[in-house]
Amino acid sequence: MLLNDQHLRNNRDWVTRLLNWYDLNKRDFPWRRKISVYHTWICEVMSQQTTMAVVVPRFEAFIERLPTLADLATVGDDVLRELWAGLGYYARARNLRAGASYIVSQRGGEFPSSYEDWLKVPGVGPYTASVISSICFLQPKACVDGNVVRVVARLAACHGTELWSDDGRTAIQNLVDTVILKERPGDFNQAMMELGATLCQKKSPDCGRCPVSSSCQAFALSQVEQCPPNKPRKDFVDVELLALHLWRASVESHGYSELFLAERRSGFLAGTVGFPLLRCEPGKTPENYLEQFSKSSFFRCVKLEKVKISHTITHHKLSLNVVTLELGDSYTLHEALDPSLVHLLNQLSISLNRPLWVSKNHASRSVASSLDRKIWEKIS
Ligand code: SF4
Repeated sequence: MLLNDQHLRNNRDWVTRLLNWYDLNKRDFPWRRKISVYHTWICEVMSQQTTMAVVVPRFEAFIERLPTLADLATVGDDVLRELWAGLGYYARARNLRAGASYIVSQRGGEFPSSYEDWLKVPGVGPYTASVISSICFLQPKACVDGNVVRVVARLAACHGTELWSDDGRTAIQNLVDTVILKERPGDFNQAMMELGATLCQKKSPDCGRCPVSSSCQAFALSQVEQCPPNKPRKDFVDVELLALHLWRASVESHGYSELFLAERRSGFLAGTVGFPLLRCEPGKTPENYLEQFSKSSFFRCVKLEKVKISHTITHHKLSLNVVTLELGDSYTLHEALDPSLVHLLNQLSISLNRPLWVSKNHASRSVASSLDRKIWEKIS
């Protein structure tokens, strides 16, 4: 047996204690004050892999700007990107919009009420469907996120790495599906997550204040630190990139400004607007690229920024150098890039997807991914 969970299945007193604790101690979040399907959906997607301290102000700004499903369904890319700034994984925001658009166009704006119908909404997976259907429609669908895995692993004193296998995931899901309180499924799910996020944290859990400590096997056996076991290491792929900070001053009738080149990316970091990125060819150093840029008459100044940037995205470990390229006065700024500049970039295997000029005054709003923010911090 993968989980030693019979005591949790046979004696459900711990579920009552958990719910009582949750009723008295749940944190006050804007989306908890009054249950709304729209708000629950937005906050659930926003909080994936993001801390609540970051989510709360972003959620409030999002709801203020896009108060209804119809507003979200028709929002433009620029506003959506601005509202999602700092939350990472912009694809989630686009999925939200696609889901809203589906509900407006295919269901006349009426939210699905069942778990199964939520799964038909584009961009909604089993976890999100279970959160919304349990909290808003009282469907007994268990939500198993990282916090819940940790709590269950400790309650059942599970310290074998098989916990992270498909069988382990299935065993946890099966247990939580069995013990979920049918009368209050949404509160049960939130109570489990809340316990994991507040008392049963990864480091130094506060077992002295825990409402379910008397049912916790890891606590009884003094094995809390060993549960759950560390996940087997993922193999990361190292990627060397060069980010281009290609800019020019512009003096127009409305005054002086500085503009830099950005692109609306496809493929890697799809959907984000940011600095052009070049994947360094094996054996080629940033200095080699610098040399090639220096030969071009386009640039009045070419330099390699001193500090290197490290960034991890899923299983990619990125290591970035930033090259600053200042265009000379002879370069005329147009929305379309000068064909000779495009040719030069193409020679360096840089092919831009829908380039645009961004004012440095608006950079913090326009380049929103956490990677681009790191780049911006280095050069501003
Ligand atoms: S007793 Fe400690 S380890 Fe066990 S569930 Fe409570 S906080 Fe977590």
